[in-house]
Amino acid sequence: MGIEQTLSIVKPDAVAKGVIGKIVDRFESRGLRIAGMKKIQLSTADVEAFYAVHKERGFFKDLVKYMSSGPVVAMVLEGENAVIENRIIMGATDPKNAVAGTIRADFAESIEANAVHGSDSDENAKKEIAFFFSKREIL
Ligand code: ADP
Ligand code: MG
Repeated sequence: MGIEQTLSIVKPDAVAKGVIGKIVDRFESRGLRIAGMKKIQLSTADVEAFYAVHKERGFFKDLVKYMSSGPVVAMVLEGENAVIENRIIMGATDPKNAVAGTIRADFAESIEANAVHGSDSDENAKKEIAFFFSKREIL
């Protein structure tokens, strides 16, 4: 375990609601450092590539539409066990199942528009960070 990096995305619903700062505070308050950060508008092709693992799922088309519907904020979070810590801070995919006090319990609209993305493993974190950030953007 030790110090890890993971990718977080503040999704379009949360950016539109104006809760970027509140979400960033959840990470910093729990000891995850912001090592990289950018606001970016994803294209359809960007989202199709980023979420390629879900391309056979029934919700894929809607997911691509939603994730490209407005700007997102991508972040590299760094800290002790960052991958798992971020998943705990985020809460369950469906906000109805998310533990009180998690980002998704407090800010998600639905199972689709669920406020944040977080890498699910160290291996995927490395790939997802490389998708958004160059080395000189991670400090
Ligand atoms: P997580 O984001 O918690 O890792 P998944 O990797 O399973 O969840 O799914 C990726 C994203 O796809 C979710 O965050 C959500 O935006 C969307 N999604 C997942 N399941 C559904 C569903 N049943 N219906 C609609 N959208 C979904
Ligand atoms: Mg996932």
